[in-house]
Amino acid sequence: PPRVRIAPSPTGDPHVGTAYIGLFNYVFARKHGGQFILRIEDTDQVRSSASSEQAILSALRWLGLDWDEGPDVGGPCGPYRQSERLELYKREVEVLIDKGAAYRCFCTKERLDALREQQRAAKTGRFGYDRHCRELDPAEARARAEAGEPHVVRMKMPTTGETIVPDGLRGNIHRDNAESDDQVILKSDGFPTYHLANVVDDHHMGITHVIRGEEWISSTPKHIVLYDMFGWEAPQFYHLGLLRNQDKSKLSKRKNPVSLDYYRDLGYLPETLLNFLGTLGFSIASDQERFGLDEMIEHFDWSRVSAGGPVFDQQKLEAFNADDIRALSIDELYARVKDRVLDEARVKALLAQAQPRINLLDEFIPYVSFFFGGSVDYTPVLAKFRIKKRTRAEVTGILKVYLDEIERDERARAFTAEGLEAFSREFCQRHEWKAREVFALLRLATTGRTAAPSLFDTMALCGKDRTRRRIREAIV
Ligand code: ATP
Ligand code: GLU
Repeated sequence: PPRVRIAPSPTGDPHVGTAYIGLFNYVFARKHGGQFILRIEDTDQVRSSASSEQAILSALRWLGLDWDEGPDVGGPCGPYRQSERLELYKREVEVLIDKGAAYRCFCTKERLDALREQQRAAKTGRFGYDRHCRELDPAEARARAEAGEPHVVRMKMPTTGETIVPDGLRGNIHRDNAESDDQVILKSDGFPTYHLANVVDDHHMGITHVIRGEEWISSTPKHIVLYDMFGWEAPQFYHLGLLRNQDKSKLSKRKNPVSLDYYRDLGYLPETLLNFLGTLGFSIASDQERFGLDEMIEHFDWSRVSAGGPVFDQQKLEAFNADDIRALSIDELYARVKDRVLDEARVKALLAQAQPRINLLDEFIPYVSFFFGGSVDYTPVLAKFRIKKRTRAEVTGILKVYLDEIERDERARAFTAEGLEAFSREFCQRHEWKAREVFALLRLATTGRTAAPSLFDTMALCGKDRTRRRIREAIV
């Protein structure tokens, strides 16, 4: 029976693309009585965080894509977090070095920078490492490493011939070996790169089929070469199409809501989202779009899967959701709404905002309605909003940068009022904008009003995804 996995990197919000890839892996495993494994690829020390890992696990649980082995449930091939497997990677890298399939590289950053500069000036369009250390005497290289000289380890890519990636959805993909340079497989800090860790883990975890997004196609030839070097059998590869907008552009954080938390917070039903993701690339019959997870498993076959860029049509998803809400019994609907509305911590936080401002208990709901619901109507205020001496494009630009940076700032990511305020003040200073002006702009973007209760409390209470959606919609 197959063993498949998803291998998200915990570097941000749980991505709808992860759920999409997860769904196909899950369905394939269940169809054939195999195992579905969750592995955390946290080799990027700087960008990875425990909170992001938690959010990914929680979002996948919400969807019901339960895994058989993973960092929280354990399993026979653990640990399931790459940062806890460093010894294994080091050992396997030694094996490659001993075989002459990899080598230590002592090139300094200065040398590599100068090399890139030369390559740019030469205008040949060819970049990449020049294999300077490839022919160093291995014994001498080992001695230098043992003496503590900083270095990385690179794989020795063949310089001639081609590598063929047999793809279960796309046929054979050919790649000239000369196109790939000698990739770093072990960094100077002892952490592996994606390529090495991915291959070593897929092998040691007994993965039989790798089902992942098409953005990894360019990495796969290197992976196949690594499998060969180790003398391991490569898994079967399937590269699914990336989710796209109607205009064929890739779905991305900047333009689209891509966080699974967004869909959960706005009240999409998990089974609806799964059904919708299932229709992007899979069909039971041309006229049957609505199916449950069990039906998808029952009918799943690779011949029914297409890799052509699936269009993530938000309106269609919403229409699915509307139908599914109508189809629930009142008891079921009540159960779902209750947890959203009566979340004790949130209601208490809202009460703290409302207390100074309501005179009758009955005014509570209208007062807090603003903190629920997705969009706000900007038209009355947006037209009048100006910042002196700033063009409309500059004003819009600042919101775009703000959205981008929220994602990358540890304080802002947690989305507490204090964190948001600290981040926002520093943001204004750094970009040399007046805090008063930017805060007014943010207030407008998140509330649609020019006067509203404390900005950062409001943003925190509306929640990250609702707020981001509003800011995104204010950028027109
Ligand atoms: P950006 O939004 O800046 O383009 P990103 O959306 O690619 O970045 P990442 O954090 O790099 O964000 O991706 C997180 C995960 O989501 C990765 O596993 C990636 O494969 C997947 N992913 C990203 N975009 C898509 C997409 N359009 N379709 C399917 N999966 C995607
Ligand atoms: N860590 C990669 C990701 O973020 C895994 C890609 C793969 O499945 O090989 O998606």
